[in-house]
Amino acid sequence: MTRQQHIDFLERDIKNAIETGLKMTVSFIAKNCCAACDKIDGKEISMEKLLDTRPLPYKECIRQGECACCYAFNPVRDANGRLIEHKYK
Ligand SMILES: [Zn+2]
Repeated sequence: MTRQQHIDFLERDIKNAIETGLKMTVSFIAKNCCAACDKIDGKEISMEKLLDTRPLPYKECIRQGECACCYAFNPVRDANGRLIEHKYK
């Protein structure tokens, strides 16, 4: 996968997550990429932070070729276990 293909793939995932209309948190699936990415594997950030910073492809990635990391989108539930609607811009 080229860098641009990876970016397109990540952007499609972000778009799909937004289109669910649900409040989400985001975590990094960054295992087995490289030593730098191992350190962010499983780290959770807010959707707002993701949209502000677009942290992947990880700028510190040292993998030969291209960063292979992606996002996992995790729907947030309220105290009653219900999904929460939210519109991200
Ligand atoms: Zn990496």
